[in-house]
Amino acid sequence: MQALTIRENARTIEEISWQIAHAKKMVVVTGAGISTSSGIPDFRSKEGLYEMIKNKFPNERITGQQLFDKSYLNNEKIRKMFYVFMGELHSLTTAAVPTMTHRFFKRLSEQKKIMHYYTQNIDNLEAAVDLDAVQLHGTMNEVYCDTCGFTVQFTKVHAEIFKKGVPPQCNECRKREAIRQASGKRKHRIGDLQPNITLYNDVDDTTRGVYIQKCVKNDLRKKPDYLLVAGTSLKVYGVKNLIKQLAKSVHQNDGKVVLVNLSGVGKEWNSVFDYQILAHVDEWAELVEEHIGLNKTQKLLMGIAKKTSASVNESISKGRVKRRRKDRDQDRENVGSNNDCKKKTLKRSKAEVLEVVEALQ
Ligand SMILES: [Zn+2]
Repeated sequence: MQALTIRENARTIEEISWQIAHAKKMVVVTGAGISTSSGIPDFRSKEGLYEMIKNKFPNERITGQQLFDKSYLNNEKIRKMFYVFMGELHSLTTAAVPTMTHRFFKRLSEQKKIMHYYTQNIDNLEAAVDLDAVQLHGTMNEVYCDTCGFTVQFTKVHAEIFKKGVPPQCNECRKREAIRQASGKRKHRIGDLQPNITLYNDVDDTTRGVYIQKCVKNDLRKKPDYLLVAGTSLKVYGVKNLIKQLAKSVHQNDGKVVLVNLSGVGKEWNSVFDYQILAHVDEWAELVEEHIGLNKTQKLLMGIAKKTSASVNESISKGRVKRRRKDRDQDRENVGSNNDCKKKTLKRSKAEVLEVVEALQ
């Protein structure tokens, strides 16, 4: 495994960009690092959710991992903290915006390069760019009933109830119970709604688990030619296995396996990754786009827009200088000439835009 940085290994990083450009059966696995610039504060930062939870529950001691651990939810106080956390997290994720990296993978997907895009993230930001994702740990976009399994969209109303430290009740169970009671049957429990995410020590033998296995099986059968792992430090057991399995298949097909993450990974990964790029994923994605021109049209059009606006401003500013020097009659003339100049610049810019669009078609 070769460790690279953007500044010191520019040539190799460009080579990797071209490998991506030529890949046809790519698999992508992403983690928290791709969402750090989305507006969701790092859980551990001063503005993060752990700090907020500590302030709300000053007498409780709990680690971040324990808060996401199913075995701790039997404790009433921890369960209350978990629900408050989930309500607040939902508000943050719905206000967040997709990052440069989400858009980059969307463009690769539009070019039909990606067989499957797997993510450990539960923020559902892929949906905002219409990128199909296999959500390894579920999503904050749904809640499910812990009794009847009914699944529904996680709404603001649910989030406000969670913030009070209690779970919302399941409407489906309520309806069923009303019918049972009307016919004189004995009472059944009304289920609680839970965020549709996978917790530590939660046995994932659900529909989601079966679906993930099916996707991986399909990818292996189709012989993937590239594996890109981005924004994860590979701490979760299930994800480690998934990556090792896919990497083996990619190498058998003479493909490359690349990790992009701010911090490096240990020796365990030496034979798994060909390259580890130590960089912020957004910065790297932007560089790849520059190399292989995924967003060429957008950049060219932006360049022309900037040029046009600078040119118009320059003309107006020149007119202002003249105005101070000349008499009133001359001043009127200058204003006229500025307007003409403005018109000419706009005309030229329109022609240039058409030229670029034509050249790219
Ligand atoms: Zn239910």
